Amino acid sequence: MGRKKEALLLENVRISDIGAEGNALARINNLVVFVPMLVPGDVVDILVKRKKRKYLEGVAVRFHEYSPDRIKPVCSHFGTCGGCKWQHLPYNLQLKYKEKQVRDNLLRIGKLELPEIRPIMGSPGEYLYRNKLEYTFSNRRWLTHEEVISGIDIEQESALGFHIPGLFDKVLDISKCYLQPEPTNTIRNAVNIYSKERKLPFFDLKEQTGFLRNLVMRNSLDGKVMVIVVFHHENKMERTKLLDFIYGEFPGISSLMYIINSKKNDSTGDQEVILYKGEDHLIESIGGLRFRIGPKSFYQTNARQAEALYNIVKEFAKLTGEEIVYDLYSGTGTISCFLARCARKVIGIEYIEEAVRDAEINSELNRFRNTLFFAGDIKFLLTDQFFSENGKPDVIITDPPRAGMHEDVVKSILGASPARIVYVSCNPATQARDLNLLSVNYRVSLVQPVDMFPQTHHVENVVLLERK
Ligand code: SAH
Repeated sequence: MGRKKEALLLENVRISDIGAEGNALARINNLVVFVPMLVPGDVVDILVKRKKRKYLEGVAVRFHEYSPDRIKPVCSHFGTCGGCKWQHLPYNLQLKYKEKQVRDNLLRIGKLELPEIRPIMGSPGEYLYRNKLEYTFSNRRWLTHEEVISGIDIEQESALGFHIPGLFDKVLDISKCYLQPEPTNTIRNAVNIYSKERKLPFFDLKEQTGFLRNLVMRNSLDGKVMVIVVFHHENKMERTKLLDFIYGEFPGISSLMYIINSKKNDSTGDQEVILYKGEDHLIESIGGLRFRIGPKSFYQTNARQAEALYNIVKEFAKLTGEEIVYDLYSGTGTISCFLARCARKVIGIEYIEEAVRDAEINSELNRFRNTLFFAGDIKFLLTDQFFSENGKPDVIITDPPRAGMHEDVVKSILGASPARIVYVSCNPATQARDLNLLSVNYRVSLVQPVDMFPQTHHVENVVLLERK
């Protein structure tokens, strides 16, 4: 292996592992080089793009050998679209590296004494597992590498698809996405063609001009489909024509809605959703429970695997029917509902008020009378007074966002001293950090990684902590 320092070109490097953020890496002497989109076993020349104190970041500029583990990605957008970075890794290896990511974080960041980690639970579907995707209309289509090097003059066209990672105003025109089941691809393509034929202006994020902004599609396991079109401003004639076209072409759509979003950014959480045709929600059934999914409701995107995840939470919680359970970061109350049958009382806390309302509706839909939901920031709500008013928790379930728990929340949990804590996390690094703090009084007794997002490096992990 040669190494030219001045050119920052590392030659003939064999990729040996996968590390943080799913990036492949090689170790050269004491140095680690991260390179995106490679597979362990690849031998490449790496152009170093960035030097950090402890590691380098680079890109592969020449292949000498392709790893025997590589498989052909199914998707024609692979490599350009930021969505599924691991399509070239066979699923069993994706699982292996996710499991490893969990173990490495718990050991290195958590510095924890670990029981044997249970084998990661693979997703029942490697593709078509998502129940929600949001597409963006843009008048700045991303030109693929092939188009650029072809030398052919390509007129800047419009696109309906996904943002290019790191480039907020460029959108890749998607012809087929393998993450969400039909009819969503057919609907998106039909809307794309219709809108271009009618010359409806796609949105220009920089100039803040254009008519069409976003297309959101959600579906339930029983095949119902919700479509939400986001317009920048009202144009009743064109809006009605487009919505009638969609409904006419796809009568199977169970909810057709629209939003007029004239704000600068694409977020629609604070915008009114107007029902155009059909029902104002979907119903998802898992584990014998029913959940109402409105256009803004959060719901686990891999619904089938969500059931497996919640069953693990239930198993780890070891409820007898007597316990007061706290469900922290409760979202729309799915975990609360999953546990309500086996607990005395479940208290959910969540700071998005609409989600709390959804949680109350879901609990009512399933006829639970022993759930109570609070809206607010957990870091401020979880006080001694709250515990004395609502009862000290016997078991705490916590399912925080990627940033993990605020230190004050960890302190409150330690103060409440429940017998068991079930920690569900979508980020093993912050989970490990929090577990380290909890380990003063708790022992990790079960660890179960779960794959909710095949083809990506993301991994969910459930840990049971028991009071020492
Ligand atoms: N347990 C739920 C959702 C978990 S997602 C489920 O399985 O469906 C994490 C949730 O935490 C989100 O709904 C988010 O709105 C909420 N959240 C994030 N930070 C919070 C905070 N500081 N206080 C209360 N809720 C918070």
